[in-house]
Amino acid sequence: MTQQNSGLSDSTALPAQVLVVGSINMDMVAHAPRLPAAGETLVGEAFVMAPGGKGANQAVAAARLGASVAFVSRVGTRQHGEALLQALQDEGVDGSAVLRDAQALPGIAVIMVASEGGENSIVYVPGSNAQLSPQDVLAGARKFQAGTVTVAQLEVPLPAVQQAFELSRAAGGRTVLNAAPALAVTPALLALTDWLVLNETEAFQLAGLPALPEETPPAQLLSQVGVAAQALRQRGAGQVLVTLGGTGVLMCGAEGLQHLPAQAVKAVDTVGAGDTFVGGFATGLAEGLSAVDAVRLGMAAAAIAVSRSGVQSAMPRRAELGPAFA
Ligand code: ATP
Repeated sequence: MTQQNSGLSDSTALPAQVLVVGSINMDMVAHAPRLPAAGETLVGEAFVMAPGGKGANQAVAAARLGASVAFVSRVGTRQHGEALLQALQDEGVDGSAVLRDAQALPGIAVIMVASEGGENSIVYVPGSNAQLSPQDVLAGARKFQAGTVTVAQLEVPLPAVQQAFELSRAAGGRTVLNAAPALAVTPALLALTDWLVLNETEAFQLAGLPALPEETPPAQLLSQVGVAAQALRQRGAGQVLVTLGGTGVLMCGAEGLQHLPAQAVKAVDTVGAGDTFVGGFATGLAEGLSAVDAVRLGMAAAAIAVSRSGVQSAMPRRAELGPAFA
C-alpha cells in the first residue's frame, strides 16, 4: 500500500473552524550577496530549510491566531515529507485528513535570495501537491461542517478545490478562494466561492486587464483595482477582496467598494503577507466577525508578519495583535 492516512492525530474533539485544502512544501532558501548568473557558482552566506506552501502557510497563520484548524492535503513522505507532517502537528493543526503517499516526493521550493536588494529566484517542484485528487478530498468529507470556513488556493489541482467547495456548500459552510497563483478559475468554482481573495497583480491578470505601471498614483490604482474587482465579482464570486501590500485591502461586495488602509509598519520581509492575511481573515469569519472586522484581523496579523523576516516563523500569535483583537 502506497497511500494512507497521515497517521497524525486529531487532537480536537470539536469540528474545525477553519479547514484549509491546499499545498505543503519544504522551502530551501540560500542567501548569497547576489543571485548567480547562468552557469555561475557563488559562495552563499546562509541556508534555511523551512515548511511552506500556501496551504500550510495559511493553516499555520490561522492556528497561531487561535482558530481550530484542519488541513486536507497529500504529502509525499520521501525525503522531507515526514518533517512537514511533524511541523503541522507542532503547530496544533489537525492533520488527520492529510494523505501520506509513500511513493511521492513532497513539494519543494528552491529559493535563492540576494542579500543586497532582496531579489529572489525560485524553482518550485510541486511533487505530491500536484496529485491531490477529488477522491483525496472526499476521504476527508467528515471535516466539512456547517460552521466551517473552507479555504483553498491554486497550488493544488482545480478539481480538488472544486470538490472541497462542493462539500463545503453541501454542509452549509462558507468558502474562501485565494486565487494564487493566478490561474484561470472556472465559473463553476467562482459560483461556489463566497470570498475571492487575490493581490492586485492576480486581480488584473484574472480580470484580463493590463497591469499598471509602478508609478501609478494611489487614487488611480484604487480606481483600476475596483474595476478589476467588480469584473471578477460579476463572474460569480460572492465578494472580492484585493490585497494591495502596504496600501491595504479593497473590498468589493453588493454594497460597492470599500478601501481599508493597512497599518503603517516598517516592512522587513513581505513574503507570506498574503498567506498571513488569508489565515487571519478566515479566522475572523469563523469567529463570527463581520467581513470588515475579519479583514482588519487579517491586516493586523499581516502587518506584524511583514515587520519580521521569515514566512511561517514571522506569523504572529493572537496575543501579539493587542486588545482590539483579543
Ligand atoms: P505575498 O505573495 O508576498 O505573500 P501578496 O502579494 O499575496 O503577498 P500583499 O497584498 O502584498 O499580498 O499583502 C497582503 C496584506 O498584508 C496587505 O493587504 C496588507 O494588509 C499586509 N501588508 C503587506 N505589505 C504591507 C506593508 N508594507 N505594511 C503593512 N501591511 C502590509
